[in-house]
Amino acid sequence: MSQQVDNIKPSYPLFRDQEYKDMLARKRDAFEEKHPQDKIDEVFQWTTTREYQELNFQREALTINPAKACQPLGAVLCALGFEKTMPYVHGSQGCVAYFRTYFNRHFREPVSCVSDSMTEDAAVFGGQQNMKDGLQNCKATYKPDMIAVSTTCMAEVIGDDLNAFINNSKKEGFIPDEYPVPFAHTPSFVGSHVTGWDNMFEGIARYFTLNHMEDKVVGSNHKVNVVPGFETYLGNFRVIKRMLKEMDVGYSFLSDPEEVLDTPADGQFRMYAGGTTQDEIKDAPNAITTLLLQPWQLEKTRKLVENTWKHEVPKLNIPMGLDWTDEFLMKISEATGQPIPASLEKERGRLVDMITDSHTWLHGKKFAIWGDPDFVMGLAKFLLELGCEPTHILCNNGNKRWKKAMDAILESSPYGKDCTVYIGKDLWHLRSLVFTDKPDFMIGNSYGKFIQRDTLHKGKEFEVPLIRIGFPIFDRHHLHRSTTLGYEGAMQMLTTIVNAVLERLDEETRGMQVTDYNYDLVR
Ligand code: SF4
Repeated sequence: MSQQVDNIKPSYPLFRDQEYKDMLARKRDAFEEKHPQDKIDEVFQWTTTREYQELNFQREALTINPAKACQPLGAVLCALGFEKTMPYVHGSQGCVAYFRTYFNRHFREPVSCVSDSMTEDAAVFGGQQNMKDGLQNCKATYKPDMIAVSTTCMAEVIGDDLNAFINNSKKEGFIPDEYPVPFAHTPSFVGSHVTGWDNMFEGIARYFTLNHMEDKVVGSNHKVNVVPGFETYLGNFRVIKRMLKEMDVGYSFLSDPEEVLDTPADGQFRMYAGGTTQDEIKDAPNAITTLLLQPWQLEKTRKLVENTWKHEVPKLNIPMGLDWTDEFLMKISEATGQPIPASLEKERGRLVDMITDSHTWLHGKKFAIWGDPDFVMGLAKFLLELGCEPTHILCNNGNKRWKKAMDAILESSPYGKDCTVYIGKDLWHLRSLVFTDKPDFMIGNSYGKFIQRDTLHKGKEFEVPLIRIGFPIFDRHHLHRSTTLGYEGAMQMLTTIVNAVLERLDEETRGMQVTDYNYDLVR
């Protein structure tokens, strides 16, 4: 046996031992009906051609390697951002297992979320009884101060009515009348995780404010509200709070999972930690204004804030990169009358210095990028500021209006002229694009590693390295703690991107007596 008790090998390199190679070959021959290797190679090569790309882009009824997740995932993240709140999903247990593991793998934290485990009988007769028992059990077992309910596909397909179900549960005494149970319908066959976040936030805000507006006066609490949207970089919560503190602006972060997704290992399990309080959300209409950090994904939230809270929502882009962070700070200054302090001006100057230092290495470098609408737009804008050239921008959950705005941004810069924007496409489409029109790098989530592997399989000169910025990041550690917003976020992203470029250059110039004339100590 190649596995020895005093020398335990992990699966790699264990499976490279001859014994395992032989075993795997026998398995393939006996059970897998494997196609001949030359046929596999031929088909692989064909999938890298323009002919295949054209067929691939005609695909309608199938998604391969999707560039989005489903609505309730976003609803769960939104609910986690409220103090002592249990996200509750009305529907199948398997869906909730998926949401929890998705966040576990990204944040490396336990993630609390319950399901009322609808099975075949509930799918036929409706999930009313599941809801009654589920709310009662959840409240008794986990003792939250609020339960935030969303739905899976199954509950939506059969048309379960959350409002009626929750009211009935209250009327029949399964939970007290006054106990807060905001809800949102989150059907996964429309929209994506960002829509689910927006729906859940609107549901919570509606629950606490819609019928309580009589005593509210815009500006009376002298604060600004900040609504993050589907945000998975913990550093982004911290940087926005820091900038507001430096400006001496009072704020309420509406949905703030920064603590619960980053609890310390000190022997105490915290099911709940931090988060927006019920008092804060009740008081939110009294703020001066509400800042939507990811406006493209917060359409329902915007409507509620404008129509119910009567706030003038500033027209802002995600505060990513130099220009849009400037815009964000100036807008806050305008709304609150607070000046932008010297500390932030100095930080801005440092970012400009960094951009200048790295410009020679980044100028003209080509990037394929993908992710959610605001993230992708902010990243593309920042790449243009750096003199980089986005070539393929893929945003599955962007709409036509978003694409038009994205195209206008690209047209405004000489570096954006060769870029094409794709909406409603998946990462198998992107795979075709990077084979037929090769960028220097890809920027996106962990799923891009399969595209990198495939491009490398075709040959080293075809390889498109992946820079991991986005969600989810499963295969590298602690990146969710980074920052992508504000000047600080721009500094961190710039550092990641330029060092990936330099790492690649080193890799290409290590050839002894061949390319090492450019293997320089100083870059
Ligand atoms: S798409 Fe539907 S079935 Fe699949 S995990 Fe999401 S809610 Fe569940």
